Amino acid sequence: MRVLVTGAAGFLGSHLTDALLAEGHSVVGVDNLCTGSLENIGHLQNEPRYTFVQQDIIEPFDLGPVDYVFNFASPASPVDYARLGVETLRVGSDGTRNALNIAHRYQAKFLHASTSECYGDPAVHPQTEDYWGHVNPIGPRSVYDEAKRFSEALIMAYHRYYHVDTRMVRIFNTYGPRLQKNDGRVISNFMIQALKGEDLTVYGEGKQTRSFCYVSDEVDGILRLSRSKEHLPTNIGNPNEWTIIECAKAVLKVTGSSSQIVYLPLPQDDPTQRQPNISKAKRLLGWEPKIDLETGLRLSLDYFRSCIAAETAPTH
Ligand code: UDP
Repeated sequence: MRVLVTGAAGFLGSHLTDALLAEGHSVVGVDNLCTGSLENIGHLQNEPRYTFVQQDIIEPFDLGPVDYVFNFASPASPVDYARLGVETLRVGSDGTRNALNIAHRYQAKFLHASTSECYGDPAVHPQTEDYWGHVNPIGPRSVYDEAKRFSEALIMAYHRYYHVDTRMVRIFNTYGPRLQKNDGRVISNFMIQALKGEDLTVYGEGKQTRSFCYVSDEVDGILRLSRSKEHLPTNIGNPNEWTIIECAKAVLKVTGSSSQIVYLPLPQDDPTQRQPNISKAKRLLGWEPKIDLETGLRLSLDYFRSCIAAETAPTH
């Protein structure tokens, strides 16, 4: 297949690209580099089946016929989407529409990276796909949450009215090599703080929970979904739920760091709990994650060490 990946220089987009190339496909990657990084795709420079185009998908674009569109473009960390609020809303509306138009034009299949943020601060726990969510439509996270929810509505409309062959994955917290080191996410912050011997910054009392999926498990689930015929959203995430304090302790253990934990204010609308119910993915795709948090953190150690080495390397 000739596959289009938007957000191709991002954390997930770049890992997805690697997996698609490994399956023998050709990939056209598009990214405006507002949060993605060329370093994530540097290893593909001499890959004849890979083309990279720097392009903002908010503007209409056409890179020729494709068989599959993976729509992964969006700022995704709370710090990034707070900084790029309007851009985030636009990529989830105009950007998704432009990507859908390509799928429609070339009768390509379409898979969209949606998010557990569609559930907001969930009143149903764990979250099943049929839960409509509990989202503040005007709070600081709304630029991301409502962009992603609008994308889902638009995708269902293209599916219902234009018969585009669409899929949506609701992605829960995912981590691993190539996470941006400064994007403010909990795993990248804690790993870098621990490796530098700095205090680990726990927000609030650290009793809020998240469920962390290692990136290779996430990509495996996404590829399985891409081959299925399921048009409704499917949760792909690791159902092991951790409090943020437990997560900090896991990072201290894996890094062997003697950093201290400090407590900072909880950001507004920070969800109190997050855990995917993955019964649907298990039943439909035969998928479940294999890598537990400590193993995944160990697999990420070299990457975070290299981020710190790059920071401190002398410049000539
Ligand atoms: N968090 C924290 N310390 C940090 C960064 C994040 O305690 O240095 C908390 C944050 O308040 C949230 C959780 O960790 O409850 C996950 O935050 P993240 O930004 O990774 O993603 P979210 O799941 O909130 O989108």
